[in-house]
Parts: sequence; structure tokens; C-alpha cells
Amino acid sequence: MIFDHEVRFTGEGRLADPTQSREDLLTHEMRTGGRRMANAESLLARLERFELTGRGGGHFPVAAKLRPLVKAGADTVVINGSEGETLSSKDAALLQLRPHLVIDGAQALARAVRARRIVIWLHQGADATVSSIIAACNERERDPRYKGDVTVRVMLGPARYLTGEASAVIAGVRGEPVLPRFIENPAKPWIDGDPVLVQNTETAARVGLIDSLGIEYHATSLVTLSLHTHRLVVEVDPSDSFAGLFREFGIEPPEHLLLGGFGGEWVPWSKLANVALDPHLMRERGLSFGTGIISMVPKGRKGLEWSAEMLEWMAGESAGQCGPCIFGLPELAKKYKAAAHARHISDHRRHEIERLMHLVERRGACRHPDGAIRMARSALTAFGEAR
Ligand code: SF4
Repeated sequence: MIFDHEVRFTGEGRLADPTQSREDLLTHEMRTGGRRMANAESLLARLERFELTGRGGGHFPVAAKLRPLVKAGADTVVINGSEGETLSSKDAALLQLRPHLVIDGAQALARAVRARRIVIWLHQGADATVSSIIAACNERERDPRYKGDVTVRVMLGPARYLTGEASAVIAGVRGEPVLPRFIENPAKPWIDGDPVLVQNTETAARVGLIDSLGIEYHATSLVTLSLHTHRLVVEVDPSDSFAGLFREFGIEPPEHLLLGGFGGEWVPWSKLANVALDPHLMRERGLSFGTGIISMVPKGRKGLEWSAEMLEWMAGESAGQCGPCIFGLPELAKKYKAAAHARHISDHRRHEIERLMHLVERRGACRHPDGAIRMARSALTAFGEAR
């Protein structure tokens, strides 16, 4: 297990329990049994055996992303801890409470691809996370057993949603403006120039665990339960179900859950209750585990109205580079607001909304507008009739 119990965050995303603090190096070593540092081939074999997928949302197989870079080599390993998605707190929980686990994973990846540096990529304002990572790095620097490790550097991007988008991360690490770039093959971990491997924070922590525990690794997942007043980061077992999770924390299930945050999908509870919290099984059922965010409509709010506000927020977070995204998302947000306040959504209004979504979808350099549209479309299905 990564966490002994759930991690509680305030509604503003700050750690709520002052008794929970950063795990120091010695405690971390005792818990994981110390580092093994498998060679590249055996690390790849373990990642394949456990079918580890990237926990940044896409769930691309980690071994498949790593293998070409083991061959070609990479200049930099970037651990992406910029949680621009405001409903998620799992990366902050890991970096603030278990930073050594994340660094272990980063070191294992860096050795596998022969990288000369590791960058922990965060966003401005993430002060508690920055302090925790720096304190952990200092501990290692003072310990002669860690001499020879790849240098770790913390870099900060702007506090925006798209700061965590993979191509924007690569641009930022290269000293360019932190903006998404068009990538033909999103599975390709670099664009031009020196190869860069970007992995999400939870992915790195899992690589660290797999490296140190070997066959004793047990595949779990981290979810952020984003509730009305606070958030819970919970480690779930693949045998846990949505119903079990809600029962455990005494939460009344709503009619619909939003899976995957602002760019996610509204799914009826009736379809989810008995589903296992397992990214692979969920995919088989046509559901996306995404970044593990589970949220709901706030008390006293209507689903469509809340979705319109999320759409408006997503429109405001656009990087302002592509016409369909710059003009289409605000227009769509306006139409949703109007629909949320109408007594009835006419066929004409639905047709207009659908037409606009088609004009925006897959026309941007990045997938930001596609996520917004996925959420909007599912909101119309979930809440369009409930007036
Ligand atoms: S699609 Fe939108 S968010 Fe993505 S790069 Fe273009 S303008 Fe920016």
C-alpha cells in the first residue's frame, strides 16, 4: 500500500490533517525494503507483468512508452506533478507525503533511459509540494548511499490547467513558453530535439514500488473523491467497487458521478455501483478511469447549470492558439448556460449545440477542447431532460 489510510484535503486543496507529514528517507526505506534498481530490461519485464498504465489519464502502457527510449536514450525524465485539474489531489498527496517513493521511480526511469537529469514539474503556488520535494532531495544529498543518483531539479510552470499537458510540459522544460504543441502521435514521448520522457507522479510512484518490491507489488489505484466540502485521496484495490467505496466513507450516492474531472464524463450511478475500481476492467466496460477523479454536482445545484460553469472555466483555460477552441468553447458555454435556464431544451437548440461541438472537436492542437466536449455531451445526456 502507498498510504496507510485516506488523505484528507480541504476544498481549496490544502492538506487538512496536520498529523500527516512527509515520510522521511529512513521510514520510506523501511517500508519498501530499500531500492533494488533493476536494470532496464528487468524493469521493463516487471512493468509488462503488472500491466502498469500511465496514471495521468491516458492509461497508455508504461513499458510501451519506455521501451523505445531505453534503446534510444533520453536527455531528461520529467515527473509531471502539475495538477492543473482542480478536482484532483492525488499527485499533491504523493509529493507531500511520500516524495521518496516518487523520486525512487524517477531514478529507476532515469537509469533505464540513461537520462542526465530529472525534473519534477509543478505549478506556481504549489508551495507545500515544493517544500516537501526539496526536503526529500536534501535528505538524499546528505546520504552517501545516494551519491551517483541522477540530479533532481524542481521546475514551476504557470498555475493553469494546461501546464500539465504533456507537450506543454516538454516545452516548459526546454525553456519555451508553456503551451501545448501539436503532436501527431500522442503516444510518442518527445516531439523534436532531445528525447524527453514525461511520466505522471502516480506512475512514477508505482514504478518505484515495482522496482523495489518486485513480484510482491500489489496493483492498486489512487482516486480523488471530490466531495462538497473536502476531498479524499483514497487508495483502492481492483476488487473494490464504487458502491463499496461510497459505503466505506458513508457517502450517499448521487444520481450521476463525474469521472475524470472537467474533461471527463457524467455517468449514472446505476451503471457504476457494481463496477470494480480497476482501470483495465473499466476500460473493458467502455468507462474511463482517467486520472481517478470522482466528483458530483454540488448540493443545491443543477447538473446542467454546473456543467455549463465547468465548460466556461475550461473555455477560460484555453491556451488561445487555435480558432475552434478560442471561439467555440466560450460559445458552447453560453449555449449551455441558456439551456440550463430554459424550461425545455428544444430540438433546434440541441441541434445547434451538436453542430457547434462538431466544429470544435478534434480541431485543436491539443485535446483540451475534446475533453470539454466529452464532459458537455455527457451532461446533456445526463441532465438534459431533468428540468
Ligand atoms: S486546442 Fe485550445 S487549449 Fe489546445 S493548444 Fe489549441 S487553443 Fe490551446
